[in-house]
Amino acid sequence: MRGNDHMRADSHLHSAFSTDGVSEMEELVRAGIAQGFSCMIFTEHKDIGMPKEEGEEDYDFSALDTDAYFRRGRELREKYAGQIKIGLGVEAGMLAERMPEIDAFVRSAGFDEIIASQHLILGHDCYWTKYYAHLSPQEAAHRWIGDIYRNLSAMPEYDILAHPDYLLRYAGQEEDRRYALYSDSYAPVLRMLAENGKALEVNIGSLRRGGNITVFYQDILRHYRDLGGELVSIGTDAHSAEGYGTGFEMAEEMLRICGFRFYAYFVNRAPETVKL
Ligand SMILES: [Zn+2]
Ligand SMILES: [Zn+2]
Repeated sequence: MRGNDHMRADSHLHSAFSTDGVSEMEELVRAGIAQGFSCMIFTEHKDIGMPKEEGEEDYDFSALDTDAYFRRGRELREKYAGQIKIGLGVEAGMLAERMPEIDAFVRSAGFDEIIASQHLILGHDCYWTKYYAHLSPQEAAHRWIGDIYRNLSAMPEYDILAHPDYLLRYAGQEEDRRYALYSDSYAPVLRMLAENGKALEVNIGSLRRGGNITVFYQDILRHYRDLGGELVSIGTDAHSAEGYGTGFEMAEEMLRICGFRFYAYFVNRAPETVKL
């Protein structure tokens, strides 16, 4: 049983300001309050260079109306002050040939929190496995983790590395989702996070997939801790107010099991911590 002072802070969620977001910000804020959240950091999509796939012409992941987003977010921050803390961040997609532009964007906009995400492999979202079907799932994953390392190195202004399992959600089978296969590739990434005071995310959208992804998270979290990593974050990665917050306790429990005593979220680019 948790006491009344137990806090819940979500550092990764999307409103309708994201091209694939369903709910208005206020609906999400109300859902968050109802679910006992003390803090929500919105992280709308900005995927510079994300191609439009067939059948997805209506989506534009590279578009984000930052002015309208900040305006609305600040109104809600004021309206719900005293009930919940609202942060205005971004989920920035990384792409090697566009890193200077992506880096300039995240620096200039004045976000509370910057999430770095590797959604792409060979220029396409990992979701579209046909573009990398010529690689084995494990080859694809090693290559993708290498991209994470190179791209993070080119974008020092980020706070959190999101969903470290993203490619494995879509590529391969359960046997390809064993963290031990990738620990050597991930070691330099985790060391870089630990040395630079960045956070590794536990993504609830990932955990809800179950199976080996859950074990993958436990293993990567332990490896990160062994390499000196202290900062972790929890992201619902919600795109809708429906079912908002489901699975949060699972993420908290996993962090406790892996030896973490607190997790972090970022306001004005500075980490604030929540006890586990
Ligand atoms: Zn993402
Ligand atoms: Zn997201």
